[in-house]
Amino acid sequence: MDHITPSSIGLVGGGLASFRAAETLRELGYDGRLLLVGDEPHAPYDRPPLSKDVLVGAVPGARTQLLGQERAAELGIELVLGERVAALDLDCGRLELASGARLDVDRVLLATGGRARTLPVPGADLPGVTGLRTIDDAERLRALLARGGPVVVVGGGFVGLEVAASARALGCEVTVVEAAARLLARVLPPPAAEEVAAAHRASGVRLELGAAVSEVVGDDRVREVVLADGRRLPASCVVVGIGMEPADELARDAGLAVGDGVLTDASATTSHPHVLAAGDVASSPDPWYGGRVRVEQWQSAQTQGVAAAHTMLGREPAAPPVPWFWSDQGDLRLQVAGVPAAGERVVERTGGGRSWFHLDAAGRLVGVVSVQRVKDVRGAMSLIEAGVVVEDDLLADETQDLRRLARSLAKA
Ligand SMILES: Cc1cc2nc3c(=O)[nH]c(=O)nc-3n(C[C@H](O)[C@H](O)[C@H](O)COP(=O)(O)OP(=O)(O)OC[C@H]3O[C@@H](n4cnc5c(N)ncnc54)[C@H](O)[C@@H]3O)c2cc1C
Repeated sequence: MDHITPSSIGLVGGGLASFRAAETLRELGYDGRLLLVGDEPHAPYDRPPLSKDVLVGAVPGARTQLLGQERAAELGIELVLGERVAALDLDCGRLELASGARLDVDRVLLATGGRARTLPVPGADLPGVTGLRTIDDAERLRALLARGGPVVVVGGGFVGLEVAASARALGCEVTVVEAAARLLARVLPPPAAEEVAAAHRASGVRLELGAAVSEVVGDDRVREVVLADGRRLPASCVVVGIGMEPADELARDAGLAVGDGVLTDASATTSHPHVLAAGDVASSPDPWYGGRVRVEQWQSAQTQGVAAAHTMLGREPAAPPVPWFWSDQGDLRLQVAGVPAAGERVVERTGGGRSWFHLDAAGRLVGVVSVQRVKDVRGAMSLIEAGVVVEDDLLADETQDLRRLARSLAKA
């Protein structure tokens, strides 16, 4: 990207990545025009509470707001809300809105996130069947759960399990239907997945593993979910948590390089030098283990938004942090950092919960998975970052403070 400071920047998508990019651009002293266009009617808000505190009613939806009109005005951010960007005109440097309006910009950030996948079976469009991606989805789902009655959650991934725990906390009967033989199969090693499954069973959630949904049945609303083996599960509400699709159509239509998401380099720049991409929609080089990765997590969305802002102003983005995410499922606190799958062996720590430390062949920590022992995670992240060899005994000893250990090993 050339280093001429842009005079007009368009941020497409009103989520976390755009918000952090906007904030950072101003922090770095950018004083040109700054437009943030989002197709939802709401100013940028945070999604993680939607399946947790917002769903159980512990936090009002309004409290998830990241950027209100007042703060946007202070920062000189023009919020264009409830408007979809329908096309990118790269020759003219223009965003074309579905309403017909055109906005001239000389840099664009694509931070369009993704959409919840829908269930590809008959009856999936019945009233009472919903996904969970937006604050409006969360409010709708909250109203459905308040009616009581059995809830079927399709998909034993993070969002599905968080919803299952919230629905249980609201007193609903809950069944989770998962096609794989275990929960969170793509992201958690078997012992951690087992621990998560045990916690859900203990709280009264019924788990149907290795089960597929063949049909959803109802009349004016959903009544039953039919499984491929013919069993029928009563349902007054069905929550579909089977992942998301990146909203990469703008990039695709504009002729940018797209694979699983919009392809970027390490600086968040796409195949066009004036268009960047960040967050759930972006597929970027994996700084830790090579290849490409499209991450659907809060930490990554916000650090990529910050990195994109640096790049737009001709500055070097900071090195990406050790990957980290959390999932709170009722009382269960799960955190994962680094890349556990890159490890060759595992050391376990127990005591009030469990952590699994994943080590490479040289004895360096490359990933950690923690259930109810989140205090281990920050220290483990420092150890991963330092790339130091750690003795198994120290990792297994629950009295060892890993942060202190990281500091002393780094000095040695
Ligand atoms: C229910 C839920 C719970 C979550 N919990 C956790 C958690 O516990 N831990 C964690 O690490 N991560 C969690 N996440 C993931 C995290 O919230 C996402 O990674 C993050 O929101 C991604 O931010 P983003 O800005 O890339 O995209 P988004 O937040 O999806 O924002 C993109 C926005 O762009 C809009 N848009 C799309 N196309 C257009 C267009 N053409 N024109 C204008 N606007 C457009 C979309 O409607 C959307 O508003 C959760 C996500 C969900 C949905």
